[in-house]
Amino acid sequence: MTARLLIVGPQGSGKGTQGVRIAETFGVPAISTGDVFRAAIKDGTELGARVQSIIEAGNLVPDELTSAVVRERLGQDDAAGGFLLDGYPRNLGQVADLDDFLAARDEGLDAVIELDVPREESIARLTLRAAEQGRTDDTEEVIAKRLSIYETETAPILGVYGERGLVAQIDGVGSLDEITERIVTALIARGLTPLS
Ligand code: AMP
Repeated sequence: MTARLLIVGPQGSGKGTQGVRIAETFGVPAISTGDVFRAAIKDGTELGARVQSIIEAGNLVPDELTSAVVRERLGQDDAAGGFLLDGYPRNLGQVADLDDFLAARDEGLDAVIELDVPREESIARLTLRAAEQGRTDDTEEVIAKRLSIYETETAPILGVYGERGLVAQIDGVGSLDEITERIVTALIARGLTPLS
């Protein structure tokens, strides 16, 4: 069976880590737009050159470019049976882009996982990650910018998906295993089946 999933949460909510775990559990590829952009920067591609300064400043890459990257990725064979998107859509324009893409393929989303983490906890986790991984967009100033963009641009997408009855709200505070378990339970309750 297919599973077409989104995971949404503020930076530092653990959505990357949980996204990979959940994708594995349901047998679909985890696709993180942030990872795609970082890989492009690292590899010195044309895409990387276009997005580097935007990402370092903590701003959003333009929708047109981001949605083109996602369409290309979702068109690959391994995403035919489903996917878990991490970090996309990030605003209402991208929601519309994804709607159009899926509608043209006669597909739809099965669930949107919302990871709830208090702001102080997100900041604490991001600061720790900055020290561990040295990500250039994890400085204090850029972290504040990214969290404020999340609140103004990304959080509204949850209202739209909520009206469609797609949002599974998950408490994102706890151990990694506890949080994975909460998400899996919520998805099973929505009729999704994990790989055995
Ligand atoms: P993330 O790893 O999801 O926190 O993404 C890191 C950075 O990549 C973000 O701060 C944005 O600059 C950029 N980015 C990732 N996903 C998107 C998206 N869907 N739309 C625009 N920019 C994005």
